[in-house]
Amino acid sequence: MKMIVIAALGVLIAASLAACRSHTIKADPKPSLSDSATVTSSSGHDVTRLPDGQIEKLAKKLTAAERYILLRKGTERAFTGGLLKNEEEGIYTCRLCGLPLFGSGTKFKSGTGWPSFYEPIDDAHVHEERDNSFGVRTEIQCRRCGGHLGHVFNDGPKPTGLRYCVNSESLEFHEKDEDLPAESQPIERGAKEM
Ligand SMILES: [Zn+2]
Repeated sequence: MKMIVIAALGVLIAASLAACRSHTIKADPKPSLSDSATVTSSSGHDVTRLPDGQIEKLAKKLTAAERYILLRKGTERAFTGGLLKNEEEGIYTCRLCGLPLFGSGTKFKSGTGWPSFYEPIDDAHVHEERDNSFGVRTEIQCRRCGGHLGHVFNDGPKPTGLRYCVNSESLEFHEKDEDLPAESQPIERGAKEM
């Protein structure tokens, strides 16, 4: 009897350890190379990593709070972000470089106090990094500028089961019918209009 109890306990411990496993970091999808320098996502956006000088230039438009979050991996206080309760239809782009990151159709109420999405607009637009600062978490960054967005967890709703927990300060919202700026458009369309 004792052995059975011990064996059952062992199974329980193993099962709970498996449940505690952190999010498995997704490898960046293989980019298609349209030429030797430009990396294009499957949705047609230029996701070539911006040079540091250009990131610094773009960062000049940021407020101190946006700078702290995007460039120094800060976190806005829960329930304070301007986009938490936004239910408008549209697209959320990177506040720093304009790359489209999330669509309103995948936003859900997580109750955590930060805007939450169950998947990015394009897997190649969000880069994942291991973050050991408070336990093991998976940090998410904008693929093009490296700006800090937040973290991704395994406790999201269907269909992905993922929760992309994002700072409002890292995002810019564009309503459905709004014309997107050139930096937020796919290469072909952006190039035609420029
Ligand atoms: Zn960006």
